[in-house]
Amino acid sequence: MAGYRGVLAFIETAEGKVTSTGREMLGVGRLLADALGETLDALLVGSDIEGVGRDVFSFGADRVFLVSDSLLAKYHPDLYTIAVSDACKQILPSIFLLPQDDVGRDIAPRVAAKLEIGLATDCIDLAIDPDTRLLLQTRRVYGGNATEVLVSRNAFPQLVTVKPRAMAQAKTDSNKQGEIITISVKLDASMARSKLLETVKEEIKGIKLEDAKVVVAGGRGIGGPEGFTLIHELAEVLGGAVGASRAPCDEGWVPTSYKIGQTGKVVTPDLYIAIGISGALQHTVGSLGSRCIVAINNDPEAKIFGVSDFKLVADYRDALPALINKYKEIISS
Ligand SMILES: Cc1cc2nc3c(=O)[nH]c(=O)nc-3n(C[C@H](O)[C@H](O)[C@H](O)COP(=O)(O)OP(=O)(O)OC[C@H]3O[C@@H](n4cnc5c(N)ncnc54)[C@H](O)[C@@H]3O)c2cc1C
Repeated sequence: MAGYRGVLAFIETAEGKVTSTGREMLGVGRLLADALGETLDALLVGSDIEGVGRDVFSFGADRVFLVSDSLLAKYHPDLYTIAVSDACKQILPSIFLLPQDDVGRDIAPRVAAKLEIGLATDCIDLAIDPDTRLLLQTRRVYGGNATEVLVSRNAFPQLVTVKPRAMAQAKTDSNKQGEIITISVKLDASMARSKLLETVKEEIKGIKLEDAKVVVAGGRGIGGPEGFTLIHELAEVLGGAVGASRAPCDEGWVPTSYKIGQTGKVVTPDLYIAIGISGALQHTVGSLGSRCIVAINNDPEAKIFGVSDFKLVADYRDALPALINKYKEIISS
């Protein structure tokens, strides 16, 4: 549509740095911008973010747009929606990318409603149609059993959220420079219809699940919270993180943050060990990017074996103590 140009990536920051999802937005954004022969722009919203703005260039952005206001120091859905929508109206990108993380999934539908445009959530692939120059937006549907490709023909910007870990992170080029443009948006505290009372930071012991090179995940077959002691022990020996299928999270055996799959986290470790997990598609979509998948299940017909590189038909209560001892032996020798 006339007037709309370039790719805009919404960039989140944490402790003064661009987050890994931010780098993923810039990674895919660069590919799309190059395919269009247009610019890749980054949008940063917050307070005192000029320093981070400069860092964004090293991840490939051509221009950085800043909306800086003390009211935006912490995420607030109403204020961020106004800031992002107004910035979008001024920048007029052809494509606008947000991550499907806590902030992205909260704000994207609000921005879509404000701008009266469509939204494709949780995209796993994005490409430019060479004939129409429109964005091909691929997402999983029917519980992961099929994929659909959406195209937004008449509403701009083409707004999508991107599944974390589905795209490669931007390469770093510390020499890259660009233009920082400050966008002014009228905000006042009365625009916030809700009040943030408290922020509770989740305590993560050990390695973050999304960053772990080894993930040991337990399912309903573990039978209860006590069984997860063995899962934790194996993860510790291997220097990995603990994950789970939905069942143990729903049962309250482990925190929801452990959940891997369609409605949980996507992990891509070197080694993924699935224990007492049947292999429902909604679970395996979160781990299929792993380099090596090992499954331990007492049912030789379990579906998980169909996607595993190594299979062990055993009761986990017999298998895990033996494996833990063996690994300890190997590591200490
Ligand atoms: C819309 C939607 C979204 C969903 N999102 C997710 C998601 O994000 N993540 C997710 O995980 N699920 C998700 N689910 C649920 C999913 O469909 C499955 O129900 C769930 O993954 C099953 O968990 P499980 O494999 O642990 O349990 P089960 O299917 O009950 O499997 C337990 C396995 O443990 C084995 N077992 C039992 N005892 C032992 C033992 N002693 N030793 C070894 N093995 C043993 C059994 O043989 C069995 O294979 C979703 C479902 C829907 C409808």
